[in-house]
Amino acid sequence: MAGTEDLQGVLKGQKVAYFSMEIGIKSEIPTYAGGLGVLAGDTIRSAADLKIPLVAVTLVSNKGYFRQALDASGNQTENKEEWEPSRFMTPLPKEVSVNIQGREVRIRAWLYNCKSLTGGCVPIILLDTDVEGNSEEDRGITDFLYGGDYHYRLKQEIVLGIGGVRMLDALGFKVRKYHMNEGHSCLLALELLNRNGLDVTGVKDLCIFTTHTPVEAGHDKFDYGLVEELLTERGDMEVLKRFGGADRLNLSLFALNLSNYVNGVTKRHSHISQEIFPGYKIQAITNGVHSYTWTSPFFRELYDRYLPGWANEPELLVRVGGIPDDEVWTAHRKAKKALIDEVNRQTGAGMDYETLTIGFARRMTEYKRSTLIFSDLERLRKVNRRGKIQLIFAGKAHPKDEAGKALIREIFRYIEELKGEMKIVFLENYDMDMAALMVSGVDLWLNTPHRPYEASGTSGMKAAHNGVVNFSVLDGWWIEGWIEGVTGWSIGPQTEENLTEEECKTCEINDLYNKLYYIIVPMYYDRKDEWLKLINNSIGMVAYYFNSHRMMRRYVTHAYL
Ligand SMILES: *Cc1c(COP(=O)(O)O)cnc(C)c1O
Repeated sequence: MAGTEDLQGVLKGQKVAYFSMEIGIKSEIPTYAGGLGVLAGDTIRSAADLKIPLVAVTLVSNKGYFRQALDASGNQTENKEEWEPSRFMTPLPKEVSVNIQGREVRIRAWLYNCKSLTGGCVPIILLDTDVEGNSEEDRGITDFLYGGDYHYRLKQEIVLGIGGVRMLDALGFKVRKYHMNEGHSCLLALELLNRNGLDVTGVKDLCIFTTHTPVEAGHDKFDYGLVEELLTERGDMEVLKRFGGADRLNLSLFALNLSNYVNGVTKRHSHISQEIFPGYKIQAITNGVHSYTWTSPFFRELYDRYLPGWANEPELLVRVGGIPDDEVWTAHRKAKKALIDEVNRQTGAGMDYETLTIGFARRMTEYKRSTLIFSDLERLRKVNRRGKIQLIFAGKAHPKDEAGKALIREIFRYIEELKGEMKIVFLENYDMDMAALMVSGVDLWLNTPHRPYEASGTSGMKAAHNGVVNFSVLDGWWIEGWIEGVTGWSIGPQTEENLTEEECKTCEINDLYNKLYYIIVPMYYDRKDEWLKLINNSIGMVAYYFNSHRMMRRYVTHAYL
C-alpha cells in the first residue's frame, strides 16, 4: 500500500513527537502563518541534520493560510491558497477517528520526510479530515490554518491533539516524549490521561510544553459550553476544569499543569511567563533559526570555502574574521542586488544598489508597530537628507485583524506622501522565500515591537546570518543578542529602566531618528570599515549563537533526555 515503504525507515527507535498547529516547510506548502510555524520548520530541519529522533505532527491545512492581494490603497484581500498534498507527500495507509459533536470524524494522514544531507530524516505527519464518509463540515476541519471562529478552532485542536496521538499510535511510532509547540495541541495531554487511567505523574513525565505568548490575553481560552458541545468523546469536564481552569478552558494552563518541562522562548519571555503563571517553573530556551536555510547562496558559498562544516556546526561562524572583508562585502552586495532587482521587477520602484536599505517584514499586527518609523515625517526627511534611505516592507494581516489591515493602509498612505523623496515599497504576499530574500538583501533590519509582546522574534537572527545589521527595540531575543554599536543598535530603553508608556515611546522615537541620523547613516556612507565590523559581528557574535542547532541541543539535554 502507498506510503508503507516510506514509513519503514522512519519508524525505528523511540521518538520525540513534536506537535505544532503550523509548520513552515517551504513556500510551496503554505501551512504556516508566521514565526511560530517557521520556528517549527527550523526545529525539524535542525533535528534532521543532528539526527535527533523526532516525528512532527500538524494539520494538512490544504487550503493554506491565505494568499494576500493588495490594491492601490493597501486594502488586503485574502484568497485561498489551495495546494495539492500529493505533489509533495505520500498518503499513509492508516485511519483513526475522534468524536466531535457526537459524530465520528475520520482522520487520514500524509507523510512528508524532511531529509538532511547528513543522512538524518524527520517525518512530518499531516492530519487530514477530508475523508469520504465524514460530513461536509467535518471534511473541512483541516482546510484553513487559523480560519473560522472558536468553534472551528476547537475542532482543529481536537483533531491535532487527540487525533495526532492516535495516528502516531496507529502508524506504529514509539513515542518517549510529547512536545507541544504552543498550547494548540494540548488536548494530546487529555488523550494521554485517558489512556493512562488518569495517572497525572505519568502523563507529566511524557509532556513538554513550549509557550510563545508573553501576555495574559494572548492565551487561547474556550468557553466550557463550547467544549462540552464539541468534545463529546471521553470529554471529562472535571478533568478539563481541574487542569485548564475553572471558568474557561485555558490551553496554556492545561499544558502547563500536565508538563514536567515548560519553557519560554527567550530569557525575558520565561521571566514574564513566570509572572503570568506564578508557582510554575518556567525554563528558558532561546530560539534560533536554521542556519543553512536562512543564509543566502552568496554567503553559503563563502562560508563553505572558509568555514567548511559551518552548516552543521554554526559555532564555526565565530571565525568569520578570517574571511577577507572584500569577499564579505561582495557577498552582501550580491544578496542586495538580488533583492533590489526583485523589488524593482515587482513594483517598478526603481530602487538602486547604493542606497542604505532598511527592511521591515513580519506579520502585520498592532504590537509589531510597523508604522513607528513614520511617527515624525520631518525627522525622517531629515535623516534622508543626511544620506539617502529606502525602505522595504512586507507582511500579512490575519483576515480578522482589522487593526493589522489598517496598518498596511497606513503604510501605503506614507508611501504616497513621501513619493519623490524616498523610495518605499510594500511587497505583496510575504512568505518564506520573500523572507529569505529580504533578510539577506537589505542593509539594516528594523524591529519596533511594543514591549514585552515580542516573546522572541526570529527574523533578526536570519538577518544576522547574512551580515545584515539589527536595529531593534530591546525585546525578545535582541536583549540577549545586543551589544550597542558592536552587534547592532537598540531602540528605546533597557529592560530594567522603569518608564511610563509615554516616556518609553518618546525614548524609542528619539533613538530611532537620532541613531539613524547621527550614527547609522553617516557610518554606512562614510565609514565602510566600521560598517564591515558590524557585519562581521552580526555573523560571528549573533548568528553563531542564535541558530536552531544550538537551540535543539538544548532541548535534547534539558527537555528530551
Ligand atoms: C522568520 C519569519 C517570520 C518571523 O518574523 P519575526 O521577526 O519573528 O516576526 C514570519 N514570517 C515569515 C515568513 C518568516 O520567515
